[in-house]
Amino acid sequence: MGVVPRVAHVAALTFAGRWGIMCFNMESVCNSKAYRIFADLHTHTTYSHGKGSVEDNVRAAKFRGLTHIAITDHGIRHPLVGVDRKKFPAMRKDVEEAERKFGIRVLLGIEANIYGMSGQIDLSEEDIAQLDIVLAGFHASARPEKVTDVAQFQANLIAGRLGKSSKAQIARNTKAYINCVKRFPVDVLTHPGFWLELDTYELGKACADYGTYVEISSRHRVPDEEGLEGFMKSGVMFVINSDAHRVQDVGRWDYALQLAEKAGLEESRIANAGEKPLVLRSRT
Ligand SMILES: [Zn+2]
Ligand SMILES: [Zn+2]
Repeated sequence: MGVVPRVAHVAALTFAGRWGIMCFNMESVCNSKAYRIFADLHTHTTYSHGKGSVEDNVRAAKFRGLTHIAITDHGIRHPLVGVDRKKFPAMRKDVEEAERKFGIRVLLGIEANIYGMSGQIDLSEEDIAQLDIVLAGFHASARPEKVTDVAQFQANLIAGRLGKSSKAQIARNTKAYINCVKRFPVDVLTHPGFWLELDTYELGKACADYGTYVEISSRHRVPDEEGLEGFMKSGVMFVINSDAHRVQDVGRWDYALQLAEKAGLEESRIANAGEKPLVLRSRT
């Protein structure tokens, strides 16, 4: 290869590489052809164990063309990193500053822990009143409510991870989640099926009844195809979220897009996609 062709070749590769990165970014945000996602409703910051500040996450959301982002650090029962309610005012200040600076809607939320068969979460009514959005999910490290919960709700963690839970275990897990949705104004159930196996059809029906959305999680790659099928049959509405713990992951949802598209999920059933306003159960 002569000097000129070699230079042209290198230039083309460089251009292609840059273009490739751009395409990747655009695809992850503006999404697939099927969905126009406008909000990332699940991101973590240094208030728990995310790597970026509130400002960093909001800047990334703006860069990716989103019009909304939620800052949703872990609830207090998450060991070592759970957010104490005393920090809510400082978080609110950061959220308001970032909103002013970047001109997109920034919601303050918490990803609460579901930590017992009763569906209990680690937010009080007063806490919820201070937030704009409430997420809830099961985290294996969160301290259980009662000793019996260890046997009923948490002892099947290994089976859950291996996808080998018994029918009785799946029924108990599902019951705990349904109890949560019935008792608390949860806007989004996060990563359903991560650690614990669930009856997604039954859970989806309860979520649909109460106005809680089900997250398709790119970070934890849940639900899987079968789980999504159950949720879709139930009539529930979805959200597609990044669950970003790093700034560069804000607005990245490759897994969720692929799964949803493959399953033929309509944009009208994704609460943070399309032209519709964002409606949240905890605010109504
Ligand atoms: Zn986390
Ligand atoms: Zn989580």
